[in-house]
Amino acid sequence: MSFEKCQAVVLRTVEWSETSLIVTLFTDSFGKIGAIAKGAKRLKSPFESALDLLSRSSVVFMMKSGDSLDLLLEAKLQRRFRGVQAGLLPLYCGYYAGELVNALTENHQPIPGMLDSLSRTLEQLESGSNPAETILNFELDTIRRLGHLPSWQWCVACGEAIENDRPTIAFSTAGGGVVCPQCVPMHRQILRIQGRTLQILAEYSDGEQMVREPMGLGTLTPPNVRTEIRTVMESILQYHADRRLRMLDYLEDLKR
Ligand SMILES: [Zn+2]
Repeated sequence: MSFEKCQAVVLRTVEWSETSLIVTLFTDSFGKIGAIAKGAKRLKSPFESALDLLSRSSVVFMMKSGDSLDLLLEAKLQRRFRGVQAGLLPLYCGYYAGELVNALTENHQPIPGMLDSLSRTLEQLESGSNPAETILNFELDTIRRLGHLPSWQWCVACGEAIENDRPTIAFSTAGGGVVCPQCVPMHRQILRIQGRTLQILAEYSDGEQMVREPMGLGTLTPPNVRTEIRTVMESILQYHADRRLRMLDYLEDLKR
């Protein structure tokens, strides 16, 4: 057992007893952790508001071995998520970002840069950024960090370059990317997507996009392309999370 100190964002809290919570945190140094926060539900909680959903806090915890929950000893609030000030959609997008990180990561497996990527996304949502663009950036950034970024340009089966001037292009979620016409018969579940959709996904997959000027997703992009982008992303995330993420039901407006 050892005492660990790190930065964290609160992904989830559930009641554990009359006075205590089980918290799921994403930390910079230890990846995701599940910890018991004793006394967190008391009126005078030692954690105050540092365990509110999506708060960024600096925490001290005692790491337990095996599958046991860690023990949270201290949490000091650094930044609260105020997505609701920007509206309901940014608020839901924030909850979704937290759910996404929780669903795709394992306990005690650090992912360099992931905590800052999540914090930056929450700040962008609060400050009125385009939610569709912010979420797409975050989703692609997350799957890239986890090594799940699909191949948007080369056939996953034979490596052939895919010309995106065809009316539609085949995409295999399980296969991990686009599939050329010759290789399509080898794949069972195929999505048919437009070249423009692929082009946008490829552009946003470039890590530099996070810091570049917004490309106007949501105003310049036709609704059918926006809908397709969501269909492809939902399919990829459902595949890697092994389930459909709950908050997606609240994000239908990203398609419009
Ligand atoms: Zn091929």
